[in-house]
Amino acid sequence: MSIIHKNHPLYSLQGQNITDPKVTEVWEPEPEVVTPGNSNALPPSDAIVLFNGTNATQWKHEDGSAVEWKISNGELTVEPGKGQIETIEKFGDCQLHIEWRSPIEPNRKGQDKGNSGIFFQGKYEVQVLNSYQNRTYSNGQAGSIYKQHPPLVNAMKPAGEWNVYDIIFHAPKFDHKGEITQHGSLTVLHNGILVQDHSPILGSTEYIGLPKNDAHGDGPIFLQDHSNKVSYRNIWLRKL
Ligand code: MG
Repeated sequence: MSIIHKNHPLYSLQGQNITDPKVTEVWEPEPEVVTPGNSNALPPSDAIVLFNGTNATQWKHEDGSAVEWKISNGELTVEPGKGQIETIEKFGDCQLHIEWRSPIEPNRKGQDKGNSGIFFQGKYEVQVLNSYQNRTYSNGQAGSIYKQHPPLVNAMKPAGEWNVYDIIFHAPKFDHKGEITQHGSLTVLHNGILVQDHSPILGSTEYIGLPKNDAHGDGPIFLQDHSNKVSYRNIWLRKL
């Protein structure tokens, strides 16, 4: 069985006796030149800035109302009880940069400590949790794909310090009958450390029961209100 996908430029070369190195050179399309930011913290030139510290106009609550989470000091903080927020724009495959900070909650533990989450297409959660010296189920700690894949390592910083996620999301694909034909995937760097290595998304994030794979198209990015005052800043995305 071929390991090269039929859309890959090398697919049609299989079975040939290749002696010229140029045959396997791919020149087109040329990758677009993108100016990097001065540091990882700054959005690159082609990013969609979802939160720059001053307003949340790219976001709304589930019912469409304006965001009631707190904005101060360039931070967007969960206002417990106000509910999740979601991007107005819908996305498919993307690269997301997001910085987050757990509140200091000495009397809380497990899933009640610094819980929030980043849901791609409103369905697939990369967990946000205070996982610094706070044991919970491995596939529910920070950097997990919730209830699907534990992180490779625990790269968590102590509460009060900023964490960074750089996430590459590939959406699942469905055929015209609504059957899944290709699972999605998530690659996650937590503070620059690989914690999800192209992990297959099994289906929707479910608190109870197994993942589901109902067909859907592009969807918003959700940030979860799990009644902990988790803060976010410097959120940007590149479409892939
Ligand atoms: Mg969560």
